[in-house]
Amino acid sequence: VPLIVQKFGGTSVGTPERLRAVAQRVVRTRRAGNDVVVVVSAMGHATDELVELARTVTGRANPGRRHPREMDMLLSTGERTSMALLSMAIAEEGAEAISFTGSQAAIVTDGRHGAARILEVRGDRVREELARGCIVIVAGFQGVSRKREITTLGRGGSDTTAVALAAALGAARCEIFTDVAGVFTADPRRVPDARVIPEIDHAEMLELAAAGAQVMHARAVEIGARFGVDIHVLPAHGPEGPGTIITRTTKTMEDLVLTGITSTGGQARLALRGMPAGITCTAEVTGELARRAISVDMVSETVDSDGRAHLLVTVEEEDVEEARLACEEVVGRLGGEGVETTTALSSITLVGSGMHGRPGVFAEAFGALAAADIETLGVSTSAVSITVLVSSEDEAAALRMLHAAFQLHAVSAREAVSETPAARG
Ligand code: ASP
Ligand code: MG
Repeated sequence: VPLIVQKFGGTSVGTPERLRAVAQRVVRTRRAGNDVVVVVSAMGHATDELVELARTVTGRANPGRRHPREMDMLLSTGERTSMALLSMAIAEEGAEAISFTGSQAAIVTDGRHGAARILEVRGDRVREELARGCIVIVAGFQGVSRKREITTLGRGGSDTTAVALAAALGAARCEIFTDVAGVFTADPRRVPDARVIPEIDHAEMLELAAAGAQVMHARAVEIGARFGVDIHVLPAHGPEGPGTIITRTTKTMEDLVLTGITSTGGQARLALRGMPAGITCTAEVTGELARRAISVDMVSETVDSDGRAHLLVTVEEEDVEEARLACEEVVGRLGGEGVETTTALSSITLVGSGMHGRPGVFAEAFGALAAADIETLGVSTSAVSITVLVSSEDEAAALRMLHAAFQLHAVSAREAVSETPAARG
């Protein structure tokens, strides 16, 4: 019997009516002849409300920093509520169901409260109940440490629970039901002619998720990539759609360059002028930032004709003051002219496995931005992505220009292939 893992997000289980609709869908999947494991998020904004309660009681903006263990005890209750209610609703539909906390499902994590990583999914009780013909519901976003403490995986972590369970149980696929129609070529609120991407590979999806696309937790995609889990992102309610399949390799047509574009605001750039050229300087700067636990996004160095170097690093805006202190420290130590900071920046990331080794992608992207008078303040690349830094004022326009320049609105050859079931094999 094929096993399907179905995950429902907070909005999808946000009201009693929606919970009942989810129960019906789960039962349909079971009656179609599948074993089903369901992973649920907390209902609606339940997690936010629990955070707010802790803030009020402690008088602290970040109560988890002072009370990491108790914060996880608190936040894990959101998913307990929805799992128990869903189990009852499924039973009312006439199917057998049982719910488990992350701890009962033996989702073993490290001990980092609020940001725990899954080490192992034992899932013995899940397997036993499946074997008895039960639908098993597992609380998302939580696990248990080797010291038997309750942990949570970080906000949005239910996706990660679902994909990890799918990998551990050898599921045929993992379905992520969400409040959008799938993974879009760009944020449809900013790019009105954005479309749902029918098929995307894990590497591309990881870039999109890490660069700001909200639809999936990046760590879930990482696990999917490592264990070869096919992830199907589908709309939970409203008109049924084909959604997006995240899979190992897609049938990318040769003429398809980009798959999607995303962006993140709240970036800042620090420019260190007149530095001694060479790798030592870059190592010192990044080392000093790392010592202060500041994560760096882009790093670049250019050397002037006088042999002095300009070093650029970008960080999250909230870290900019601390980052400036770090950079000033290095400028003082190694000798340099000073540090200049620019805030209110956004990074725009173009993603596509098809861009690898293809000439003209940069030219197309910079041509489109230049035509719209958008200045780029930094660039970085990976095998499947290009990221450019722009002023946040230009963010929406840059997304639209690039989306149009790469014709992401057009019904692509890939889509034509994906819509033919025979072609998918
Ligand atoms: N309920 C948790 C959150 O709001 C986990 C999740 O929904 O994935 O972050
Ligand atoms: Mg989510």
